[in-house]
Amino acid sequence: MRDFLIAGNWKLNGSSAANEALIAGIVAGVPGGSGFSLLVCPPYPYVAAVAAQVAGSAVSVGAQNVSEHESGAYTGEVAASMLADIGCEYVIVGHSERRAIYGESSFQVAAKFQAAQAAGIVPILCVGETLEEREAGTTESVVDYQLGAVLDAAGIGAFARAVVAYEPVWAIGTGMTATPEQAQDVHKHIRAQLSAKDAGIAAGVQILYGGSMKGENAAGLLAMPDIDGGLIGGASLKAKDFLAIAEAAAQS
Ligand code: PEP
Repeated sequence: MRDFLIAGNWKLNGSSAANEALIAGIVAGVPGGSGFSLLVCPPYPYVAAVAAQVAGSAVSVGAQNVSEHESGAYTGEVAASMLADIGCEYVIVGHSERRAIYGESSFQVAAKFQAAQAAGIVPILCVGETLEEREAGTTESVVDYQLGAVLDAAGIGAFARAVVAYEPVWAIGTGMTATPEQAQDVHKHIRAQLSAKDAGIAAGVQILYGGSMKGENAAGLLAMPDIDGGLIGGASLKAKDFLAIAEAAAQS
């Protein structure tokens, strides 16, 4: 059985003082029980401090991006080995904001995925379609392409140490959540794509849902057989909201 992973993507938000209060609230309110884990992904400058603050708690820390390069003349970039060095356990790769705003290709995302794994960090690979793509009936082919680029580069074996996040772009930050059935259809499809290569690995991969997940809709989404947690933006910025989703995972 797969555990739930409830992951917060703080995006470009936070300050030392605000983060400290947010983490203190989350750590103090982690629900009892087992079968789930919590993760927060602050902006780069705060990863080390948050890692120190969550040490010994049930909360892990990740980053929101990583360079595909190991070292050298890449001004402004952060290497996976550096993230590992400061206590980072996960990294988000291929978030739709990075694909759309910063022009990251699926090949670059695959390189980042591999760079993370080479440093011992678990990549959270985001895939998902835009509203136009959904309306055109191409959701599955879009997701296949994004997933396929990583499968081709890294191989199915790499997914034994990776997380996938299905994030319909039209649901991110919009308040429009995919219904549990809409999300389950795509999660099932993603798992089938992985299963076609290795059923054992596919059965163990955590596939998170992301897109306006909150306390009110989390239980319905997490009840679906192929939804193994959430990647949460807006609702990860307040301890109470994030913990409501953690509570839904603890109860599921
Ligand atoms: C995200 O950015 O990954 C996300 C899912 O954001 P939100 O929860 O705000 O839709």
